[in-house]
Amino acid sequence: MDVDKTCSICGRKAVFYSSYLKQDLCKKHFERMLIKRVRANMNSHNLKDTLFRLGKENKCGNAFLEFMFKDMESAGGSRLCSYTLEDFAVCVMSFFLFHDPPDKNINGKEGFSPLFNVSENEIISFFKLKKITLQPITRNEKDEAVLKFLREIEERRPGGMISLVKVGMTLNII
Ligand SMILES: [Zn+2]
Repeated sequence: MDVDKTCSICGRKAVFYSSYLKQDLCKKHFERMLIKRVRANMNSHNLKDTLFRLGKENKCGNAFLEFMFKDMESAGGSRLCSYTLEDFAVCVMSFFLFHDPPDKNINGKEGFSPLFNVSENEIISFFKLKKITLQPITRNEKDEAVLKFLREIEERRPGGMISLVKVGMTLNII
């Protein structure tokens, strides 16, 4: 990120460009907006102030769920899946490209995935700002190829993955 970019909210030095908000953000507002997005996802599914079981499907997503909900972790309660934006974007794209039956649902039998619109890039950056290093997720060859293609689209058109996931939601694919 260029040194002279400033936060769209407070004008301080920006550390992250949010393709979700299409805004440059400082550390404080980047963290705040990311947490706010996950809370909004939870609220829209009435998952407020209950106990949760945290899924380990995606190591990166699980680290973020643990950061947000560690104190609410319990053997009972609703199950939260740790799938990320990438998992759902790959799922929708594989459905379009290969007619692969969708293998995950944002609010399915496995549980609710509050990180469906949060990218691994955002999670890794979130922890990096706290001096914690997270390894990027490795996927099988086919999923990696689809994700590489999606990331190229994202490069040219920031927010492309989010749009794809929204289409997948509208069409009830995920
Ligand atoms: Zn700010």
